[in-house]
Amino acid sequence: ADKELVQAEKLSMTGKIARTIAHEVRNPLTNLTLALDQLRDEVTDEIEDANLYFSIIKRNSDRIGQLITDLLNSSKPKDLKLVRQPLNDVVNQSIGLVRDRLNLQNMEFHENLGQDLPEIALDADQMNIALLNLFINAIEAMKPDQGQLKVSTALEGDRVVVHVSDNGKGLNKEDLSKLFEPFFTGKTEGTGLGLTTVQNIIRSHKGNIRAESEVGKGTTFTISFPL
Ligand code: ADP
Ligand code: MG
Repeated sequence: ADKELVQAEKLSMTGKIARTIAHEVRNPLTNLTLALDQLRDEVTDEIEDANLYFSIIKRNSDRIGQLITDLLNSSKPKDLKLVRQPLNDVVNQSIGLVRDRLNLQNMEFHENLGQDLPEIALDADQMNIALLNLFINAIEAMKPDQGQLKVSTALEGDRVVVHVSDNGKGLNKEDLSKLFEPFFTGKTEGTGLGLTTVQNIIRSHKGNIRAESEVGKGTTFTISFPL
């Protein structure tokens, strides 16, 4: 538990540094974009290939701007619309959103939702975003025709929990420790902000999320909420 606490502090520090840097980059970036627009109006006709270079600069500064927006959104405390409701209903909504994708890739899906769970205060839209992120990551980690996605809910002690497991490629210890950090990604097209967002949503609900994984075996995420 001590180790978990240190880990949580390290991660929230990483988030804080990332947010500070993001804010600090945003102002100069805005100035740069404004100056660029001004410049573009004045020199375009006189310099050969100027338009090409302008569009390259524009594309890249837009990209940085988008990354910063995504980063800030991924770790900004969520303003939740909390409604006491059955967690299973929300889980079922999220599953509905990926069912086609699972079928398409011929993946098995196992659902084991606990009966008579106490209702908890949830923002269904935000929870759908969180669960969808976990499901899509799981699908991306598994091979078609061999994938098994398992989702279960239960009452464990005084907490309501959700387990999301896959039998995909898994993660080594080092990568596992970076999983929730902003921009950590193992994908060429990934943003690495999905799990930062998920953690932010769960924490905004006063819940916890943790991951266990083994290379070649798969990964399990456990989300838990106080009653
Ligand atoms: P992204 O999906 O954009 O890369 P995420 O924050 O959602 O960003 O995930 C970060 C990284 O964590 C992924 O790129 C992947 O390497 C790893 N990861 C996440 N979920 C799983 C999983 N279920 N199995 C294996 N690796 C995973
Ligand atoms: Mg993702």
